[in-house]
Amino acid sequence: MQKLYYFLSVIFFALTSNAQVFNQSISDKIQKVDSVLNQLIAYENIGTKPTGSPALVETLQWISNKYRFYGYNPVIDTFKLGSNESYNIIIEKQGANPSQWIIIGAHYDSVDESPGANDNGSGVVATLQIARIIKDLIPKIGVRIINFGAEEQGFIGSSHYVKNTLLPSDSIILMLNLDQLGGTKGEDNSKIYCERDDDTNPSFNNAMSSLMTDTLSNLISLYTKLTPVISDAYSSDYVPFENEGMIITGLYQESDYSDHYHKSTDLVSNMDVDATVEVIKGALAATLYFSGMNGFTSVNKLVDYHYELIPNPANNYFTITHISSPVFVEIYGMQGSLIHSQQVCPNEQIELFDLPNGLYTVGISDHVNNLKIHTKLIIVR
Ligand SMILES: [Zn+2]
Repeated sequence: MQKLYYFLSVIFFALTSNAQVFNQSISDKIQKVDSVLNQLIAYENIGTKPTGSPALVETLQWISNKYRFYGYNPVIDTFKLGSNESYNIIIEKQGANPSQWIIIGAHYDSVDESPGANDNGSGVVATLQIARIIKDLIPKIGVRIINFGAEEQGFIGSSHYVKNTLLPSDSIILMLNLDQLGGTKGEDNSKIYCERDDDTNPSFNNAMSSLMTDTLSNLISLYTKLTPVISDAYSSDYVPFENEGMIITGLYQESDYSDHYHKSTDLVSNMDVDATVEVIKGALAATLYFSGMNGFTSVNKLVDYHYELIPNPANNYFTITHISSPVFVEIYGMQGSLIHSQQVCPNEQIELFDLPNGLYTVGISDHVNNLKIHTKLIIVR
């Protein structure tokens, strides 16, 4: 499998190494991430948050109240761990396709010894920022934000969610996990790990995880001051999703935090809050991009022009549904370079034999060449 990753990375690099194209709409939105210092301090001040503790429930209420203040109705997903109860907190914004979802996950519990400012107050405040900023945007693919309980006992909350809460009709396009984003005071925090699925049980979802993680890495480069470093996903809430064959990716800090990891010194004062804000900007850019909330789509356009690419992922061709007259189709690489364009009649197949595996954007315009919609196309053979 290593060879396949290498092969995919090489072609993806070849595909995306053109001049970087930057989406002003995404950039404008990530400027709305504010200083998270006060939220981090508030999370830390609740104290240690192990499963079964009053502080865990207090943290749940603190997070839920923030979501309510932003205009959401958080759903509490209760589960048992021995004699204790714990809880996942779920909010969502439905997309144009009601069954497709991107999950943004960040656990909110901590170990007995630690107030968990970095592990995982940093991930919690990231989800709060994302929730606030995307509240009034319209995603193409729905966004579900979940703060998991009992991660520290072995992903118990996320396992419960995958096994018992997720509906068979839910199609999870991607699970992005946010765990320990905070950086380390006094260290070089200019790099961030983008984590791909390297697990072989199962392995059929690895190539797509690799593509999504490369995309995440490109988004970090485009919209933050950080340098992305591709790393392997392990030991956090994406594991139960991965085990069920879903496509995962994640962000995790690159600098060494071992002096404070799971200790009483996991405090805001030992983190790098400026670096945390940069990682959150990257996580928000990823949310906007992967959900199609990047300004390409709007309610009217989706209602009027509900095109779909079939099949997607595609192999050597695709067709476009819901067209009754010829349209003009353009295929772009990840960074926006135009690769292919043609006019397409209803039911006409568009051939892809010349294009390497990878992630593309397809622009579909009507006969007067008014741009109506952009959508993603994945080519996997
Ligand atoms: Zn953690």
